[in-house]
Amino acid sequence: MATIAFIGLGNMGGPMAKNLISAGHAVTVFDLVPEACADLKSAGASVAASAGEAAAGKDYVISMLPAGKHVAATYLGDDGLLAQLDNSTTCLDCSTIDAATAREVGEAAAAAGIGFMDTPVSGGVAAAAAGTLAFMCGGTAETFPKAEAVLSAMGKNIFHAGPAGAGQVAKGCNNMLLAIHMIGSAEALEMGARNGLDPKVLSEIMLASSGRNWSLEVYNPYPGVMETAPASNDYKPGFMTDLMAKDLGLALEIAEQSGVDNQMGKLAKALYNKHQDEGNGQRDFSSILEQLQA
Ligand code: NAD
Repeated sequence: MATIAFIGLGNMGGPMAKNLISAGHAVTVFDLVPEACADLKSAGASVAASAGEAAAGKDYVISMLPAGKHVAATYLGDDGLLAQLDNSTTCLDCSTIDAATAREVGEAAAAAGIGFMDTPVSGGVAAAAAGTLAFMCGGTAETFPKAEAVLSAMGKNIFHAGPAGAGQVAKGCNNMLLAIHMIGSAEALEMGARNGLDPKVLSEIMLASSGRNWSLEVYNPYPGVMETAPASNDYKPGFMTDLMAKDLGLALEIAEQSGVDNQMGKLAKALYNKHQDEGNGQRDFSSILEQLQA
């Protein structure tokens, strides 16, 4: 059993913190929204009045915040957690943020002698609630086993991707590829359907052939092919278009900073931004298929 401060109790952080409590850890929470804290209090957490109060003296700090600026403000500067903690606390930031900020915070933590990993997740709200998230961790080999020890209460696959920032880079690479094969799968299915093929039969053919991919296998974007996919439930998320557009923005920053001319990634981002602009931000990202039917 570990003592854990959990900062950021939104759609993802709330259920993740509950899984830590279910696993027997002593969890102290902080969020700017009092209702989010009250919900965790009724699940067995202690509530603190600030991130610093939550983190003081704990074995771990886990954060799940919207963007890089929130993570930087939480950990860096004179008021940040790194200035208040010592090497008895390990910090894990599960937020999806830009790799540059993740590296900056990871390096600042290393300079202060504090173990820190960027540990973004793959899997949405349902996986957060079920405790089946995948974690991609960036930081030292020394910190990784400590991260694994608590992340295992919230997820199934926990990878050490590399040094500080590597978790965010891995997440950016994965989600860029996801966007590209979702769009490719939608194009192939729409093209087949317009030429008289049954999308279900075409899906079976491609799943047994070299076009096989995750979008086809578990998340078919064509309505009616797969009962459990958002496409068969009016594209109710699932994984929102807004979040895919956010992740593509982060992936493109990584590509630009490392000099990779990722033309398919850029095209995927342009298509997802158009889809957002047309009012589909809150719908599942597989609704990109409708761009082909307009
Ligand atoms: P959310 O907006 O529901 O939750 C964020 C929470 O952080 C809110 O409760 C907010 O009040 C709190 N917060 C913001 N600033 C704070 C601060 N300074 N101190 C304390 N609390 C603060 O977002 P979410 O959907 O839970 O996503 C969290 C992170 O997980 C994001 O980086 C997102 O990209 C990533 N993510 C989300 C999903 C998903 O399906 N929702 C999937 C994978 C990854």
